[in-house]
Amino acid sequence: MTISDDKKYVMNTYGRYPVTLIKGNGSKVWDSDGNVYLDFVAGIAVNSLGHCHPAVVDAIKEQADTLIHCSNLYWNEKQIKLAKLIAENSFGDQVFFANSGAEANEGAIKLARKYASLKYGEKRFKIISAKNSFHGRTFGALTATGQQKYHKGFGPLLGGFKYVPFNETNALLDAVDDETCAVMLEVIQGEGGINEGSYEYIKTAREICDKKDILLIIDEVQTGIGRTGKLFAYEHYGIAPDIMTLAKALGGGVPISAVVAKEEVAVFKPGDHASTFGGNPLACAAAIAVIEEITKPGFLEDVQNKGEYFKKGLETLKGKHSIIKEVRGKGLMIGCQTNLEEAGGIVSKAMEKGLLLNCIGHNVLRFVPPLIVTKDEINTALNILDDVLSEMGI
Ligand SMILES: *Cc1c(COP(=O)(O)O)cnc(C)c1O
Repeated sequence: MTISDDKKYVMNTYGRYPVTLIKGNGSKVWDSDGNVYLDFVAGIAVNSLGHCHPAVVDAIKEQADTLIHCSNLYWNEKQIKLAKLIAENSFGDQVFFANSGAEANEGAIKLARKYASLKYGEKRFKIISAKNSFHGRTFGALTATGQQKYHKGFGPLLGGFKYVPFNETNALLDAVDDETCAVMLEVIQGEGGINEGSYEYIKTAREICDKKDILLIIDEVQTGIGRTGKLFAYEHYGIAPDIMTLAKALGGGVPISAVVAKEEVAVFKPGDHASTFGGNPLACAAAIAVIEEITKPGFLEDVQNKGEYFKKGLETLKGKHSIIKEVRGKGLMIGCQTNLEEAGGIVSKAMEKGLLLNCIGHNVLRFVPPLIVTKDEINTALNILDDVLSEMGI
């Protein structure tokens, strides 16, 4: 199996680095040439417990031996247990399970429209989302994504969406009208560049939604399950959404996503929505193991400490290398804004030295290491980055 086989048989949708990863352990991955890397991409904030965490591996093995899949025509104990765990640890009361971030956001959009149509009739269907947001690639989620570059060539998109600049409170208030059924936001934009929502902005979004009975949908696909040092990032803002979506880190690498809602919002009836694989026993067993690990006493405090430590280290590099303009983010979801046109060169050079990271929006370096990363590993990453920037003379 070679990279040219990939080019022949796999659709060309990803700009890939010329490396084949074959195994992982903790914060490290190995390629097919035997090179080892510190993985600060972590499957894009998926492998939050690192690679092959024993709790996740054991849960998957045991479930694979017992029941891998069964239809949602029947009850499934693992699904019930996971829904209860999520509800008990969040604002939510009820959960719908799906398989990807985009699919969860589709479910959230449908749920918001159903809620509004039952209560106010079909004239209330508009969804406001933010510019620079990212909600996924299927049509509803793609339409909600406030970035034209992802829309180009795929029109017509879904009707009834409106985009507002992120963090501009007045623009959000102006955009709301009698036809608005939901406001959909990431409290920290991930793919858009690790842009933190301001406290005032997120609070105001909550207030206007309360005032008009508009649903606040928070997309926690990237921020959720401990990434920002809280189990869910909305907790940093002292608010709760009406609907949240989860995916990336939820299954420790096994595909699973969730739409979480307050009871009065969870208005789906049998037949309204479904997913064949959604919440199957294997995926739910993995997710239960993930949540049980992340909610252990001290785990999230440790994420916060390591996040602060890492950010301090990056601030030090900023003092040394003029190309770093800003360090931002919460917990272990950190972005380095560079003043380069294109920061991809840094990523390639870091990779040669054994550090995986990625670049978003052309010039923001994104760090989303496993939450179990150690301070030693953070030091190694900082040293590699320091060396790369020094060698590049930037
Ligand atoms: C990655 C991501 C998605 C899309 O998730 P997929 O599993 O790729 O469909 C949606 N929203 C946010 C915030 C994301 O980071």
